[in-house]
Amino acid sequence: MARITLDDVTKRFGDDGDAVVAVDDVSLDIADGEFVVFVGPSGSGKSTLMRTVAGLETQSEGDVYIGDTLVNQLGPRARDIAMVFQNYALYPNMTVEENMSFGLKMSTDLSKSEIADQVASAAEMMGIGKLLDNKPGELSGGQQQRVALGRAIVRDPNVFLMDEPLSNLDAKLRASMRTEINRLQNELGVTTLYVTHDQTEAMTMGDRLVVLNFGELQQVGTPLECFYRPANRFVAGFIGSPSMNFFEGTVGSGTLVADGFEYELSESMRSSVGDRTKVTLGARPEDFDLSEDSVSNGFEVAVDVVEPMGSISYVYVRPVEQSHDETFVVEVDGQRPISEGDHLYARVSPTDIHLFDTQ
Ligand code: ADP
Repeated sequence: MARITLDDVTKRFGDDGDAVVAVDDVSLDIADGEFVVFVGPSGSGKSTLMRTVAGLETQSEGDVYIGDTLVNQLGPRARDIAMVFQNYALYPNMTVEENMSFGLKMSTDLSKSEIADQVASAAEMMGIGKLLDNKPGELSGGQQQRVALGRAIVRDPNVFLMDEPLSNLDAKLRASMRTEINRLQNELGVTTLYVTHDQTEAMTMGDRLVVLNFGELQQVGTPLECFYRPANRFVAGFIGSPSMNFFEGTVGSGTLVADGFEYELSESMRSSVGDRTKVTLGARPEDFDLSEDSVSNGFEVAVDVVEPMGSISYVYVRPVEQSHDETFVVEVDGQRPISEGDHLYARVSPTDIHLFDTQ
């Protein structure tokens, strides 16, 4: 097991003139045994960052340490890591047992029976003990991914690296495999880096999230920190589904005004506004109240679309008094009778308003 340290890591692809900066000056400290999820939209540099830890890419600048060892010059094999990919990367002509034992046979001098014991125990852990004689082609996607995970466990590595391992599975299986990977990581206590573009996956897995955009670190924090205290508008818009609503606000003397909103600036709001005259207000769908009657701090909205989700509904509303044509989304009880065209009053407590720099 090992901690991982990245110091000012930058990775550029291509010639200096028109190089793509895939990873931009990232520094990170990952504790021994920690489960860290790299999350961000496609192209944000998650895989490149992970591949740099793996030794599959060489950084253009900066240092990578695994434990106390500077691994910049070490190839993937010497780094003692096990990787799990989206496409499983199993050998199609080998049995499950052969797939799982292959790495050990190549890289250790364990006896045949020791290898068989380790494979059996990893197979047991992944619930694939009965599939050892099958070929990958005879297995479902979920079973193949279990084999890929089992193969990683068998190696007993310092670090697990998982790159979108669940994205080829259907939604139900993905949810159960998420739980399983969490359990496994907990049980084994192996430092794990996990790449996903799926913010739901990120929220439910891992001790900490590393949120990336355009190769730059946006926030490093627990899932709840990233959700409740997003460092910037990007993180606020990316973490949470549906996304936070944003409103462009203007700071007046003692007030903050945006589409419909009008707040007296409290002491704490004043200090977070600072000397900005324009700010972006953010409010999550679940932090709105919708009422039939006019309320203080509330403003009139017209219901555009109602999206029933079962126990809750998402109601897309449009402020009645606004110059543009944008809706925002409010979460309500699924039993509540609200129809398109209804006029209601929306309100958010000032303590649930997040303030960001206007872009
Ligand atoms: P993510 O994993 O977040 O989708 P990647 O790390 O795959 O992002 O890619 C980050 C950026 O680096 C993208 O702009 C991508 O096109 C570029 N990139 C990744 N790999 C290469 C490569 N081998 N050659 C050139 N550009 C690359």
